[in-house]
Amino acid sequence: MTNQQYDVIFVGAGVMGCAIATNLLRRDSQLKIALIDKDLTYRYSSTVLSDGNCRVQFNVKENIQMSLYGMEVLKTFADDMAVDGDKPDVAFRQQGNLFLTDEAGREEVEAGLALQQSLGGNVAWLTPEEAKEVYPLLNIEDGLFVGGTFGRDDGTMSPQAVLEAYKKKAVALGAELIEAEVTAVRHQSNQVTGIQLKNGDVLNAGVVVNSAGAWGTAMAKTCGVDIPMQPVMRQVYVVETAVQPSKILPLLLLPSGTYIIHEGHGKFMTAHSFPDDPVTTTDFSWQHYKFEERIWPELAEFMPAFDSLRVVDGWAGLYAVNTFDGNAILGEWPDLRGFYLVNGFSGHGFQQCHAVGRYLAERILGLPPTLDLSVFSPRRILENAPVFENKQKII
Ligand SMILES: Cc1cc2nc3c(=O)[nH]c(=O)nc-3n(C[C@H](O)[C@H](O)[C@H](O)COP(=O)(O)OP(=O)(O)OC[C@H]3O[C@@H](n4cnc5c(N)ncnc54)[C@H](O)[C@@H]3O)c2cc1C
Repeated sequence: MTNQQYDVIFVGAGVMGCAIATNLLRRDSQLKIALIDKDLTYRYSSTVLSDGNCRVQFNVKENIQMSLYGMEVLKTFADDMAVDGDKPDVAFRQQGNLFLTDEAGREEVEAGLALQQSLGGNVAWLTPEEAKEVYPLLNIEDGLFVGGTFGRDDGTMSPQAVLEAYKKKAVALGAELIEAEVTAVRHQSNQVTGIQLKNGDVLNAGVVVNSAGAWGTAMAKTCGVDIPMQPVMRQVYVVETAVQPSKILPLLLLPSGTYIIHEGHGKFMTAHSFPDDPVTTTDFSWQHYKFEERIWPELAEFMPAFDSLRVVDGWAGLYAVNTFDGNAILGEWPDLRGFYLVNGFSGHGFQQCHAVGRYLAERILGLPPTLDLSVFSPRRILENAPVFENKQKII
């Protein structure tokens, strides 16, 4: 394999790598593309360990626009991604997202809501009484929240199915899928020349995309690029309760950031990002105690019916946390030609894969962007111009 020449090499064939590759090949079927992943079972890849939620409830215009575009893509995704008549079913369940807020967060939430509505987002303000109509389990007696925003079109889907669909399509369009570990991005002065594999093979390309997810910081370092991103372990818990809602409830976000997704019958999935979550790329241990000590009491306060429940499942996965401003880092690194970053998605990257796939393909091919995402350019790091979602919070 050594010294093979490609047009574009992807380090990482998660949802980002595969979505960009598909978009590239749709625009230029002659491109020679290598999609490289160290583990094609995707055991630890963030995409398959994610909750698969999509929301328009953001405060940065471009994040809202990316989600709106993603929802458009999903309408015809099965047909567009069909390979030899095989149509993917991503099971997009638009049960809505209900984000509760307390007084302290209200002003920002209202500003976000106005922006979402101005861009066509189907989001409304709900009083506590209206929130209880949508989510009957809520405790509205104790003044725990002042209201909330309800994104009616938001919802969850199978991230694995979306990833598989993009991967199959990219391969059907001509991408070469290679299971191997990349150990370095190679360059000569300020131009990328390819990558080196663990077995010593060298593959050449003038464009290398760092789509290595939470491992992207280490990959960028191999060519001297420092990206402000940390791999952080997050925990997910699945609980079984005695409540049996007659229909699927919306995703519920509490003012603290704890969220809970109704999976059907009495089952719910829940999680919270804690500041002391470990930085790691190798530890995937499931920390059951965090639920018992730090999440359960809050759930029971907001929803008394959760006072009694059973933890039935759970897992750990990695957020690629952008420690600079919590948002995506998209585009060519200014000081290294041909080195493209698609990093730092923190906890909201999955839903952005469609817009990012299109944007990065357009950037690489030198086409004008259909949706301008230059606000997320890597240059903002060098220029110290962060783009925060909320009051300088990393989410
Ligand atoms: C618990 C959890 C819940 C989440 N929930 C949501 C959600 O509800 N909605 C949402 O939008 N986002 C969510 N996210 C975030 C989302 O999962 C990520 O932003 C997104 O999946 C990133 O995709 P990716 O392709 O960049 O990364 P990945 O899916 O991690 O893919 C990167 C790939 O690179 C490969 N790789 C790494 N290093 C090398 C190397 N040296 N050589 C070869 N291959 C390499 C890895 O094996 C991996 O397959 C969640 C994340 C977690 C962990």
